[in-house]
This record gives sequence, structure tokens and C-alpha cells, in this order.
Amino acid sequence: MASIWFLTGSQHLYGPEVLRQVADQSRSISDALAASDAVVPTIVAKPVLTDTDAIRRALIDASADDDCIGVIAWMHTFSPAKMWITGLDQLRKPLLHLHTQVNRDLPWDTIDMDFMNLNQAAHGDREFAYITTRLSVPRTIVAGHVSNPSVVARVGVWSRACIGAAALRNLKVVRFGDNMRYVAVTEGDKVEVERRFGTSINTYGVNDLVATVDEVTDTEADALCTEYADLYEVSAELLPGGDRHDALRYSAKLEVALRRFVVDGGYGAFTTNFEDLGGLQQLPGMAVQRLMADGYGFGGEGDWKTAVLGHGLKAMAKGMPGGTSFMEDYTYHLEPGNELILGAHMLEVCPSIAVARPRVEIHPLGIGNRSDPVRLVFDAAPGAGVTLGLSDLGDRLRFVSNEIEVVSVPHPMPNLPVARAVWRPLPDFATSTQCWLAAGGPHHTVLSTQLTATHLEDLAKITGVELALISRDTTERAFTNALAWTAAAHRLGIDA
Ligand code: MN
Repeated sequence: MASIWFLTGSQHLYGPEVLRQVADQSRSISDALAASDAVVPTIVAKPVLTDTDAIRRALIDASADDDCIGVIAWMHTFSPAKMWITGLDQLRKPLLHLHTQVNRDLPWDTIDMDFMNLNQAAHGDREFAYITTRLSVPRTIVAGHVSNPSVVARVGVWSRACIGAAALRNLKVVRFGDNMRYVAVTEGDKVEVERRFGTSINTYGVNDLVATVDEVTDTEADALCTEYADLYEVSAELLPGGDRHDALRYSAKLEVALRRFVVDGGYGAFTTNFEDLGGLQQLPGMAVQRLMADGYGFGGEGDWKTAVLGHGLKAMAKGMPGGTSFMEDYTYHLEPGNELILGAHMLEVCPSIAVARPRVEIHPLGIGNRSDPVRLVFDAAPGAGVTLGLSDLGDRLRFVSNEIEVVSVPHPMPNLPVARAVWRPLPDFATSTQCWLAAGGPHHTVLSTQLTATHLEDLAKITGVELALISRDTTERAFTNALAWTAAAHRLGIDA
């Protein structure tokens, strides 16, 4: 059970009665967080910390506890921060510094020095912030009263980033074959990614998957075909009795086999490559789409980095309205003032972003040199969202992200037989794409209408990966300057 520890700092200066009050008030803050739907993990209230040994022990215990995915710290009364040095030095979990106090309003008529000494986070938190800054401890800072919904919502966003980071730490990725020949951006340092995220990425020959497909029985395939007919608009030729029903059955066998392979191996993400399909009769299409809808990350053309992101972001977004999918910037609508990006892939777009019940169709695919693949076809639902890509710059990893507005598909596209999304990149097409290209962002991304830029900023901070964010406020000059400063800081070994 994923949990977040709530730690309160104080000291012995004001005596046991004050410490009893601190403990009660600490509990009221942690209860308020625990009661919020925005904060997904369990909040674990810990005893008030008042000395160096207890602080060090608490932070070592948090770091060692597999269920603990983050730590919230609040300095209720002044907690002299030299007491925190040895503990913070050992902390290996994401940290949120909550800058709050129990009372919302000042008790103007009754306030006295006792009240002042009890409720002094205004400077207690500054003392803590000094030492976390001096020690370069990465953290998210949230200020305000917990009765303010935006304060709790902000803690909730961070808690989801903690879930994403924990998902990456426990993630195993299986690649069926290598990445596409000669392609640069899908390459990368798998050792560095395992060091940075904790994600393990390994390869199987695609014929290991073929062997699993061959073991799937007709009965299993038929059961899945029945499920498809219940869930989707299946084209007549694919239905039982239709001319091409065998292709749907094969697609169902692919799904059963892929699911079995990833479940048995404990994998949370996978890649395929159309250049390396071995004995597979179809490029996996609908099978991949349906596994993505269940939370598996995916990358086409062997793109394991985007598969990693796909799983992490889906874990972060679980239960939120909207969807999250593997995506590729494919082609543009360049009408002045109404520029749009059409995103899609050969087949593999997640139906979690679909605006309506998907259709199951079969069409020729020139790429891959196999039989026609079955795929889910749909338009993406409109809404605010983000795209996120991961580039390996050689000396470090870089997230590149864009705030976007997915729009209702403005015209039917009767001859385009794949799932697609159409979006307006913010702040505008030229700024967005010029910045994306300046940052060396990839053509594969994860598109999410569930998450916001703030979720991604928190994830970047937690994982220690640079985030080049193209937001609604971005200007190209400030963005490229930030890239230059960040590169300089990285080469000087400065924590950004
Ligand atoms: Mn691609």
C-alpha cells in the first residue's frame, strides 16, 4: 500500500504541554490531507520530531520502507535545522515541504506570546528551507492553509508524481527486438535510465512471443472475439462468419499471448518493431492498444524510453478523467492562425483517449511486410493536455513537454484508418515547434489529457531529470536561454 509519511518538526524549548498541542495539531493537518480525494496514497502520521537522533531515524526508516513513496515535512514550531542535517543527508524519498499553520485567521482579540510561540511555522519553515537549500535537497514547496482546496490539490498533484516515480522504480520493460534501424532518438543509455529511474529494460527475441502466440487456444481467442463485439463496433468482415474473421482471431491470440508474456514476466511496458516481426502474422495493433488501456506502457519501433514514460504517466493518472496514450507527431494543418498537429501512429494509440466507442477495422499496412493488421479506430476526445518525450543527450536525459489543447476533429477523415488526435500546441504552433526542435525533443511522446504540466514538473524534480517545458507562457527567447543555462549548470555540476 503506497503511503506518504507526514513528519512534523518541533523542539523541547517550550515544554511538554506545547509538544502535546503540536502533536494534536500535526494530526489535524495530516487528517485534512488524508481526507482529501486529491491525495491518493495513504497519509501516515508520524510522531513529532524533536531531536537529531529521532529525525535521522525517521528519514532512514522512510528511505528503507518500500511502501513509503514520499515524505511531507512541516516545521510546526521552530525546529532548529542543524538537527535535520544528518537525516536529510540519508533521505532517498521525494520530499514535499508543506508551509502551513493550523489556524487560518489570526485570533486578533486574544493573541499573546504563547500563541506566537506555538504557531511559528512562518519562521520555522524558513529555517528548514535554509538547510534544504544549503544541502541541495530536491523538494516541492507548497504554501497555504489546508482548508484551501488549491493547497490540498497541489499536494495531491505531487502525490501523483510520487506514484509515478515509484511506478518507474518498480518497472520492468520488455523489448521485442531492438529499435528501428538507423533511428537516433529512440536510442539511449539503458544503464543510465535504470540508475535514474530504477527501470530495468531488457530484450527478448520476437520469436519468444511467437511461441507464446502459438500456445493460445482457439477457445481463448473466441472468448476475446466475443468481448470485442460487446465493447466495440466491429466491422462485419471481422465478425464470426465474416470473410476476415480469422484475422480478428489472430489479433485476439496476439493479445492473449502479449498479456501472458508481460504478466508472467512482471513487465509493465513493452516495445515492438515492425522491422523485426519474426513469425508474427500481423504487426500487433489492437492487442497493443488494449494493453495500453490497462496501464501498460508502449513504444513503437523499439522505443523503450517512451514505453517507460507511458507506464509511469498512466500510473500517475490512474482514476483521473481523460486518457493517456503513446503518440507520434505525424503531420500538420498549417492554416495561418489555426495551426494544428495531427498525431497518430501506424496502429498503436490507446483507446483511453477515445471520444466515442472505437471501431475495430482491418486495413492493409505497407510497413512490416505481414498480413493486414486489425486495429481500433477512433478520434481523441477534446480537452487540455500535455505531451511528454524523453531524449538522451549523451551526457544526460531531458524531458521535453508541451502544453496542448486537444480539439474535436474538425473534419471527417474517412480514408485514414487509424486512431488519431488533433491538437493545438501552446502557446502557438511556431513557438511550440521551434522550442521543441531547439530542445531536441523526440517525435514519439506520451500524450495525456489527465495530467498537467505541474504533474510533470514534480516528476522531473523527483527523478532529477531536466524538464524543458513549452507552456502557454513560453517565449522562444526565454526557452532557449534556459536551455543554455541548464546545460552550463549541468556541466558545472550545479543542481538546478
Ligand atoms: Mn513511430
